[in-house]
Amino acid sequence: MPDVGLREWIAAGRAIASGHLLRYDPGANLTSRFEKELGQTVGASHVLAVNSGSSALVAALAAAGIGPGDEVLVPAYTWMATAAAPVQVGAVPVLVDINETLTIDPEDIRAKITPYTRAIIPVHMVNAPCDMDAIMSIAKEHGLIVIEDSCQAVGVPYKDRHCGAIGDLGTFSFNKMKNMNIGEGGAVLTNDERYFIRARSYHDLGSLVRQHGDRLNEPEFVGMNFKVTEIDGAMLRVQLRKVVPMLRRMQKRRAVLADILSQSDEFTVTPHNDPGSAVSLSILAPTREKAIELTGRRGVHNRLRDSSKHLYTNWEPILQKRTFHPKMNPWAWAKREINYTPDMCARTLDILDRTCIVTLGLRYPTPLMALIARKLARAG
Ligand SMILES: *Cc1c(COP(=O)(O)O)cnc(C)c1O
Repeated sequence: MPDVGLREWIAAGRAIASGHLLRYDPGANLTSRFEKELGQTVGASHVLAVNSGSSALVAALAAAGIGPGDEVLVPAYTWMATAAAPVQVGAVPVLVDINETLTIDPEDIRAKITPYTRAIIPVHMVNAPCDMDAIMSIAKEHGLIVIEDSCQAVGVPYKDRHCGAIGDLGTFSFNKMKNMNIGEGGAVLTNDERYFIRARSYHDLGSLVRQHGDRLNEPEFVGMNFKVTEIDGAMLRVQLRKVVPMLRRMQKRRAVLADILSQSDEFTVTPHNDPGSAVSLSILAPTREKAIELTGRRGVHNRLRDSSKHLYTNWEPILQKRTFHPKMNPWAWAKREINYTPDMCARTLDILDRTCIVTLGLRYPTPLMALIARKLARAG
């Protein structure tokens, strides 16, 4: 993640000094300028800034009209927000295994589709893009809506496009852990004007008093307030200028290290859905024991199973189908019985058991990281 520093401080200070804190204040334009710039960077015709990635997912589902009785396919390896968002709109998440790329397995998507499936939320985890070609073609075949959870892959390329701007809708997070960081924040992306208008309505309970002047006559509906302030918009414009160069450096470093690590006969480099532009780097060991041993070596950041908060077995409220009110229970409205068990996605558990993230070490010179990688690849 890029640092937050002097430039953000100055931009935020200017936003405060302007006297316009609300994005829809007459005279305010920082948030709308950010949205335009982000859309140009990633190739989305409509961008809506919201207060978090979780909010972005809920607004995207509401925009797409997903609700009670609907099943939404989500991967078993993601931040719980991906599975919680369908519940917020009255739908239920159905868990899908990942494959070795660490992203949702297209074959298991096919296996989990029922007559009640309405949408897929592929998640680009740890900057690794999903197999979007396969996912979009399955979605087309079955008439499903694709909402990319690109919260962890802001700015990441996939073939000649960008994660988040490929599906019907996409979502970004700008929280402290992500590629663009303003503490908390998010965005909804789409190329569909109607989805955009509906997402904007949902994110701004006050939409009905604004003069948006849309071409489509989409009536306002009851929503929430997920708006950002102009301070957020100002800081996001600064962060946006940092993310592209950062990813370019990651891409170069990743290419050097992946090349070295691929020579190991103890482990393989995690397969990638677009190796030519990859920025993420992890390795896959043949056994769990080997992966645990590798975590003790220099250059290995951690084993994914150990950062287990992103694993479905830890999503207790989902596994228990627990909502804030017993009658507000989407599982009771589902068209069939949906149950979750700790071993239901055994393949995901096995892959995460054997996968270790490799440190790119951007703050260190390439020769040093290459040396560490050579040792890692040869040791054993
Ligand atoms: C961070 C994250 C979210 C949610 O973002 P917040 O801004 O924290 O609400 C959703 N999905 C994934 C995969 C994430 O990593």
